[in-house]
This record gives sequence, structure tokens and C-alpha cells, in this order.
Amino acid sequence: MPRPLVWFRRDLRADDNTALLAAAERADDGLVALFVLSPGEWRAHDDAPVKIDFWLRNLANLSQTLQSLHIALLIETADTPADIPARVRDVAHRHGCTEVHANREYEVNESRRDVAVRAALGLPFHLHDDRVLLPPGRVRTQSDTAYTVFTPFKRQWLTVLAAAPPVPRPAPHPLRPVAGLQPAVIPQNIDGFSSPMDPALWPAGEGVAARRLAEFIEQSILDYRLGRDLPALHGTSQLSPYLAAGVISPRRCLAVAREANRGLFAGGLEGPDTWISELCWRDFYTHVTVAFPRVSMGRAFRKETDAVPWRDAPAEFARWCAGETGFPLVDAAMRQLHATGWMHNRLRMLVAMFLTKDLLIDWRQGERFFMQHLVDGDLAANNGGWQWSSSTGTDAQPYFRIFNPYTQATRYDPEGTFVRRWVPELRAWSTKALLSMEKLSASERRRLGYREAMVDHAAARARTLAAFKGE
Ligand SMILES: Cc1cc2nc3c(=O)[nH]c(=O)nc-3n(C[C@H](O)[C@H](O)[C@H](O)COP(=O)(O)OP(=O)(O)OC[C@H]3O[C@@H](n4cnc5c(N)ncnc54)[C@H](O)[C@@H]3O)c2cc1C
Repeated sequence: MPRPLVWFRRDLRADDNTALLAAAERADDGLVALFVLSPGEWRAHDDAPVKIDFWLRNLANLSQTLQSLHIALLIETADTPADIPARVRDVAHRHGCTEVHANREYEVNESRRDVAVRAALGLPFHLHDDRVLLPPGRVRTQSDTAYTVFTPFKRQWLTVLAAAPPVPRPAPHPLRPVAGLQPAVIPQNIDGFSSPMDPALWPAGEGVAARRLAEFIEQSILDYRLGRDLPALHGTSQLSPYLAAGVISPRRCLAVAREANRGLFAGGLEGPDTWISELCWRDFYTHVTVAFPRVSMGRAFRKETDAVPWRDAPAEFARWCAGETGFPLVDAAMRQLHATGWMHNRLRMLVAMFLTKDLLIDWRQGERFFMQHLVDGDLAANNGGWQWSSSTGTDAQPYFRIFNPYTQATRYDPEGTFVRRWVPELRAWSTKALLSMEKLSASERRRLGYREAMVDHAAARARTLAAFKGE
């Protein structure tokens, strides 16, 4: 009789989990669940301690949910990625499993790992598409190539979605238990990944994610088109850590957004329409990493930008990392990242552009720093965002479009609320003073308790234009 093994990876939920549901349908003789702790792989991928801590807390939660379905979640540890196939094989054989199910991970290293697992297992290994709304390969141009520009991708994405709308499915019913099998204790800490961050910032669990989604739909989605650009507000869902760890499914998100959008994927109301577009960006960047694997191997999508003479400037990079640039909104954003593991999208674009255009420092350094600090770090979205901001990627900003950090502050933090929240040395400043910072001399800034601007924006802009033009 079939007894499947479900190997959880970045899909830490029971609700609408494609691999779990497929396995449950075949579990005549019970079902075994597994998660492999893989610190060597996490280190190699620069996964942030705050993210690993979030995963562990979600695993504990998942284990409880699975127990209520009579499924025991087992834990194995693989010190290096090369150890993973043997760990999965051993668990499957030890517990008499007849097949293995997992949701597909599309990145290069993960795909190679799964090839090795398949070879080691000696059992059927079923990989399911679950992570994005439409799997890579399903949205192609008329000439059967991958899209490299978002707008036509989205048009086709909407057509495919409308033809077969994905329907979220609930967790399986309780199964027949595997006799004598007890769930493992989930560790609270992994060496090298202890997070100093307050866990209450990112509470774990499918219930939390579902409530967050419901609150966002009730309170913010209608104003999202404008609200999403104002970091001082809670105008976005803050669901990214939950989506990245798979604590909530994108199909669940799409289904409720569609309901709030008069039943439409597009052409309904401006807020929900725009939010559904963000889910499409998430799909788009995943499709790009599969179609153009070089982007996840540290290479630019636009090969010609390999010639940009990025500056080797460790002291300047360190100031950017620390949020000590002397540009209030950039500093506030970097400090938000350090304090919470998360940064608002408008500010991710601003700080990425500041690093690559004002400091002319290689986008790969920023991409890596983000991964090392983000609770929602995701290779495809992070790489896409960095390459967009640095004008090296698909859909990239043209290199001559460079955000002015002062103008961005006036436009997106017009009362200085966000800056005062995160930069204590500016808390007592009037809004007028904050927004005319550009005109203050270095000595005036010092007198008022804020450091000098680390670059002259106009001169930096000219330097970058010349660098991109190859002058
Ligand atoms: C330089 C840079 C780096 C980024 N790194 C990451 C990352 O590592 N992980 C990550 O999830 N997002 C990343 N993003 C995209 C975006 O900033 C975050 O997804 C968003 O800020 C998360 O907040 P939210 O959940 O409130 O988003 P909402 O505005 O509520 O959007 C809903 C969901 O859509 C998805 N989404 C939204 N915008 C984007 C986008 N531009 N690209 C891809 N997916 C998107 C996210 O899953 C998000 O949770 C990055 C953007 C930039 C510019």
C-alpha cells in the first residue's frame, strides 16, 4: 500500500499545498513528512538569520498542524547540500515510504540538488508546481520564447489565468497515522543563525498569514495604488516573508484579491488591480530566473552592462550598509532593514539605486547584503529588484534615469514621518529643514547633529552617466 513521504522546503503550510495534497490522495498507509535543516546550503545562499529563525518558528507551527492531520513531521540535518540526497533517501527507506513528493524549487542549485535526490532515492520522486501562480514555461511569447519585458508578460499571464483560474484548496482531511511514528522536536536555534530580532515582529503560522491577508484586503487594498508608495503608512500587505517561506499560497492571495476586485483579475478597481500586478511581478522574476539562469549565477541580464566600471569602495559600502550616508531617507530605510529584516518596496528601489548610481558600487554587493538581512529574501525577487534598479536587468530602468534621493523624500515622505521614525538624530528637525537638507552645508548639518552627505548627488549622477556610456 502506498505510503508517501512529503518533503517540505519553502512551502511551510498545510493549506493549499500541492505536494501535500497529491501525497495525501495516495496515502493509503499513512504519510510521513520531512524537513531537512541545511545550514551549509543556507550559508552558501546568504540566508539571513532573521529568515532562518522565521522558518524554524513556522516549522514548529506546521508540525502542530500536521499532527492534527495525523502526520508526523521529521527533521534531518544535512551539513552541506551534498549530504541532502542521502538524508532524504534514508528517511524514506527507514519508514517504508513508497514515493516522495515535493514542491518544485526553480533555482539552479536547488534544481541540481533535486536531480541528485532523484538519482539517490530509488523511488518515484514527484515534483509539483506550487510556488508561483503560473509555473515557468506556461507564459511564453507567440514565437515560444520567454518574455523579457513585464508588460507583455502580464498581458499573457492574465490570458492564461483567465482560461484556467487557479483554485486554492484546503488542507487534506486527517489521514491514517503511521504506527509508532512521533514528530521530531523542532530546534529553536541553529548555530550561526541566531537572530537578535524580536520574533513578535514576524509572528509565525498560517493563521497569522491568513489574518494579515484578510486585514490588508479589508483595510488597505482599495487605497493600495497610492498607499503602496508611502513608507510611513502601512499601505502594503507585509506578506512577503510569508509568501517567501510558503506560509501562505499565492493562489489564496490571488483568490481574495480577485473577490475584492469585483471578481476580476484585471480591469476591476485600481487598488486590487495594482496588487494583483505585484503578484504578477513575483511570477515574472521567477520565470526570468528559470529562462535565463545566468541571472542567478551573479551575471547581469544585460550582458553589455558587464563593462560598467563598478567602483571598489569598501568604506563607502560600509556607510551605505550602516545607514550612515547622510541622505535621510536612504539612512532611514537601511535602519528599518537592520531593525526589522524588512524594507518597504519604494525604499528598496531608492537604496539600490543610491548604491549603484550615486556610489557606482556593484549591484551584486547590495544584492548579497539584502539576502544576508532580509526576512523575505528570495533569489528571484531580490535579483530582479537589484538588476532593475541598477539598469542591468529585464525591464530595467534606463541607466540615465537616476532617482534624486532628495526629491524622493519630498515625494514619498512629505512630512518626514518615516525619517523621524528611523533616524533619531533627525527627530527634532522641522519638516521644512528635513526637506531642504540639500541646501545645508556640512558644518550646518554637523551643528544640527547629522552627518555630511557622502556624495554630491549631481556630480555622482554625471559620473554614472559617463560610466554607463563607457566614457
Ligand atoms: C532591490 C529590491 C530587492 C527586493 N528583494 C526582495 C526579496 O528578496 N524578496 C521579496 O519577496 N521581494 C523583494 N523585492 C520586492 C518588493 O520590494 C517586496 O516584495 C515588497 O516590498 C514586500 O512587501 P509587501 O509584502 O508589503 O508587498 P505588497 O506590496 O503587499 O505586494 C504583495 C506581494 O507581491 C510580491 N511583490 C511585490 N512587489 C514585488 C516585486 N517588485 N518583485 C517581486 N515580487 C513582488 C511580494 O511577494 C509581496 O509580498 C525587492 C525589490 C527591490 C527593488
